[in-house]
Amino acid sequence: MSKTAIKSNRIILPDKMFSGYVVIQNGSIADIVSHFPSDVSQLVDVGDKFLIPGVIDPHVHINEPGRTHWEGFDTATRAALAGGITTLVDMPLNSSPVTTTIDAFEEKLNAAKNKLHTNCGFWGGIVPGNEHDIEPLIKKGVLGFKAFLTHSGIDEFPNVTEADLLKAMPIIARYDLPLLVHCELSDSQHYSNTADLCSYANYLGSRPKQWEDNAIALMIRLCEKFNCRVHIVHLSSADSIEQIKIAKNKGLPISVETAQHYLYFFAEEISDAQTIFKCAPPIRERQNCESLWQALEEGVIDFVATDHSPAPPEMKEVNSGDFMKAWGGISSLQWALPVLWTAARQRGFEVMNIVEWLSEKPAKLLGSRFKKGKIEIGYDADLVVLNPDQKFRVVEEDIQHRHKISPYLHHELFGGVEQTWLGGQRVFNKGEMKLDNGRPLIRAN
Ligand SMILES: [Zn+2]
Repeated sequence: MSKTAIKSNRIILPDKMFSGYVVIQNGSIADIVSHFPSDVSQLVDVGDKFLIPGVIDPHVHINEPGRTHWEGFDTATRAALAGGITTLVDMPLNSSPVTTTIDAFEEKLNAAKNKLHTNCGFWGGIVPGNEHDIEPLIKKGVLGFKAFLTHSGIDEFPNVTEADLLKAMPIIARYDLPLLVHCELSDSQHYSNTADLCSYANYLGSRPKQWEDNAIALMIRLCEKFNCRVHIVHLSSADSIEQIKIAKNKGLPISVETAQHYLYFFAEEISDAQTIFKCAPPIRERQNCESLWQALEEGVIDFVATDHSPAPPEMKEVNSGDFMKAWGGISSLQWALPVLWTAARQRGFEVMNIVEWLSEKPAKLLGSRFKKGKIEIGYDADLVVLNPDQKFRVVEEDIQHRHKISPYLHHELFGGVEQTWLGGQRVFNKGEMKLDNGRPLIRAN
């Protein structure tokens, strides 16, 4: 089989920057050398542009089947290619049916057929009463599970209580798979129907940090009890950093992600009625944001994932500005890399840090059976050519998502994704896409 080599003066390897050639054969990285390799049939020279591992986004709501009018596999994975994302993992909601049974998972796999332009794994869902579905879903190849501790936003995916987790977690622990948890434990006293529905301050006040902190305390306790891998999704409350640090120092199998929007936006900048910013937990104040950055730098927060959760404009209540009615979710998949890089470079971080937060660490959540997230011999040749100094404006005509609405619209971002390579094939090259090369990522038993 013929070999391809990509030459770059700035290849980001796990421990250093390297000038040389990455040799690709049979979809994998066959060699990394400093001198021109022999037997190469194709050479791609990217000069001083960075060659980095493809982005892995393990938190994406694709919403197909059933709510394809919200996004769908075709548009989501096109956006992924344009954004340098070579692997994403689909959430068990808001598709219909939700992925909580084996039949629903089969339906989802069928729906994904011939529509994947990047690799895509799947999380199963934990809801009250589906503990007997857990093992069949594992055997069919889900990468782990997701549960909510508060209302998920759709009635078909009810939240669990501690009693449900007592049944589910020992099973998940036996297979050493992660349980991803939306950590907010709600109480009724924060909702006020008389408040100004268009006020961002009111919305922010309706989902206090305490909800997250209480939920995370519960999950730390259950993680310890069952030695079950727990992954806290989209951490927003910086008040929980300390308890997470203590749990990690004890050696508990706990990992944490935050989302780009908690690192890029501040509550102080969000005007009333701007429901495009609504997400749960909410985007909090500047000081909270700075604490999240510090936790990311220290490794208390492991990585960053988009929680891409799009909806049609009418559901985002863009006209009424009603925060209580609007769908909670931010559309962002395509800019996972440039948004994080734009905010990170202002704080003095390097491309190396971005690779750790968007590729290396998220790969660990998927499990070591997948050879992803690093430029290393034997790893999949999922790669990105990045021009970190290139500036661009987010404009509607470049958006690959189904709906051209996002809080990032019209923002100027750094970090141009010039090429995306998937399994050794160049599938995105300066706007040109090569489609249908994505594969479902199924966990083999
Ligand atoms: Zn989510």
